[in-house]
Parts: sequence; C-alpha cells; structure tokens
Amino acid sequence: MKPVIALIGRPNVGKSTLFNRLTRSRDALVADLPGLTRDRHYGEGRVGDRPFLVIDTGGFEPVAKEGIVHEMAKQTKQAVAEADVVVFIVDGRQGLTPHDKTITDYLRKSNRPVMLVVNKAEGMKYTSVTAEFYELGMGDPYVISAAHGDGVNDLVREAIDFA
Ligand code: GDP
Ligand code: MG
Repeated sequence: MKPVIALIGRPNVGKSTLFNRLTRSRDALVADLPGLTRDRHYGEGRVGDRPFLVIDTGGFEPVAKEGIVHEMAKQTKQAVAEADVVVFIVDGRQGLTPHDKTITDYLRKSNRPVMLVVNKAEGMKYTSVTAEFYELGMGDPYVISAAHGDGVNDLVREAIDFA
C-alpha cells in the first residue's frame, strides 16, 4: 500500500502549489481515482523510488455551518480520515491566524500523525519564520517553499517514514 499524505490548511496557504509540485514528476500520475468525490484531488508522487498518494483539499474553514465552505470542511475531514499522515500547512508570510488554531484542535482529535509545515518560507530565517507557530504546540515546524521547492523532498521523505 502506498502511504497517503493529506494536505490540510486554510485557503491560500499553498496546498495546491505543493500538490502540483509533488505530482508533476515524469512518473507522476495525476488522476481522479474512481469512486472518489471531485472535491478532493488525488495524485501520485514519488520521492526516489518510493511512491505515495497525496490528497489536495479545498481548504478548511471550520466555522461555516452550511454552504460551499461547510462542504469543503466536510471533504477535508474525509481526507484526514483517509490519510496515513497529515501535512498541516500554515503561511509563513501571513503568520498565525485563529483558523490555524481551530484546525490544530481538530487535527489533535483526529488521531493522525500531523506534520506542521510553514510554507512560503523562501528567503526567510528558520527561527523568525517559525517563531509564532510554536504556540500551536506541535513542536518544531518543517519549513518549505512550495513555489520554489525548498525543503519539499525532505518533507515528503519524513512524511512517508511517519506513515
Ligand atoms: P491553497 O488555497 O492552499 O491551495 O493555496 P494555493 O496553492 O492556491 O496558493 C495560494 C497563493 O500562495 C498563490 O498565489 C501561490 O502562488 C502562493 N504560494 C504558494 N506557495 C508559495 C510559496 O512557497 N511562496 C510564496 N511566496 N507564495 C506561494
Ligand atoms: Mg487549493
């Protein structure tokens, strides 16, 4: 079985950018698997000779009670349930938001291994870009730039080991 990595986080943190980077290698197969809803995107990636599945999600806005945003939260919860490991992405440029804390609370209850990842960190110092995220109580964050690729391979190798 290929390990399943779910990309979780509020809208605009860079989940789809990371998904595209992870699935666009020559070997990658990006396809909607049969029987799965269209709101999540499943793709296959590979690091070295190790294949994995990755799930992109629409973005978690936990406060919504109905409508499209509520549907997105539902899809996100399904992705978490299917995942061997959750990659929880926050935005190192925008910083910590109340939604990040709500998602943290949800993920804690999910009983899945979670890796906290600070994205958009290109050109920034580890200590300054991560400082405010220690408040989430998830230990040392991983730091990446999904757009530039910095830290992405290391992140995936660790994710697969977690799974
Ligand atoms: P999603 O809503 O979480 O899927 O976020 P997207 O992948 O759509 O990205 C949201 C915005 O953040 C886009 O304008 C991206 O180009 C930008 N973005 C994503 N990753 C990075 C990054 O590593 N660095 C910077 N500076 N911008 C990024
Ligand atoms: Mg997206």
